Amino acid sequence: MTANRVALALRRWVDSGADAAVPGDEAEDRVDWARVLPFVAMHVACLGALATGASATAITVAAALFLVRMFAITAFYHRYFSHRAFRASRAAQFVFALLGASAVQRGPLWWAAHHRHHHAHADRQDDPHSPVQQGFLRSHCGWFLARKNFATHLARVPDLARYPELRWLDRYDAVVPAALAALLFATGAWLERAAPHLGVSGAQLLVWGFCISTVLLWHATFTINSLAHRFGSRRYATRDDSRNNAWLALLTLGEGWHNNHHRYPAAARQGFFWWEIDVAWYGLRLLEALGVVRDLTPVPAAIRDSHRRARDGAPP
Ligand SMILES: [Zn+2]
Ligand SMILES: [Zn+2]
Repeated sequence: MTANRVALALRRWVDSGADAAVPGDEAEDRVDWARVLPFVAMHVACLGALATGASATAITVAAALFLVRMFAITAFYHRYFSHRAFRASRAAQFVFALLGASAVQRGPLWWAAHHRHHHAHADRQDDPHSPVQQGFLRSHCGWFLARKNFATHLARVPDLARYPELRWLDRYDAVVPAALAALLFATGAWLERAAPHLGVSGAQLLVWGFCISTVLLWHATFTINSLAHRFGSRRYATRDDSRNNAWLALLTLGEGWHNNHHRYPAAARQGFFWWEIDVAWYGLRLLEALGVVRDLTPVPAAIRDSHRRARDGAPP
């Protein structure tokens, strides 16, 4: 790796648009270790809990941030930005993007562009993350560590790229995570003085609320690309290998109904039947009742029941 390459990787920690079009990037399928050092470091930083200890407050904050940010990824990055499964005002859209960015999974345009590509090529050669084509590790996290998947393909998200505030957030995708980390540290340091009986410190709230919560959130999200194309049942005979998996649906607030989702990605809900628990859908119904979102795309009955007709021998 040349010195220039390392310098560029470091600049991309804070500016993902730095030299956006480096010739040859698209062909480089190797892990860019200098660029992904923060991803590795976040895992190592979880061990900081051995030094900071734990408290009920820190663990509660970690769990709450896991749930809120999982909802942001599921309902907004996935169902809203990637699939346009409902509508919202421009201001609400920006708040969704900020919440999604706090999950430390790059910006909304990068996320949606790669995800749309996944649906267009699911489990075929061009799928960026297929366990069937490339194995578990590659589909779980190897794919986004590779240089070829670093860039945001604006041509795949023209409907989102026309908003400058979203383009800014996508380019400087470290800003929101850094602000969250700073807020957690400052809150912990304040609590240490203001409420010493809680046993919280700045470092402790940073390790639990940011590092541990984010690493768990990452790997829970990644299971949809790896495990949900491998383990579970296939209600619909989609062209890919997507599965419905109740455990993954609980873990990801609804995304585990992945075979349903590949059958009809436009829908705002992924649990197609009342017994398929889809917490993000319940949350979206609540936001609809509050007037924050509107026009949640339903699942047409003919799509929902198409497996029955296929089973009975009728044309799907
Ligand atoms: Zn999929
Ligand atoms: Zn999708």
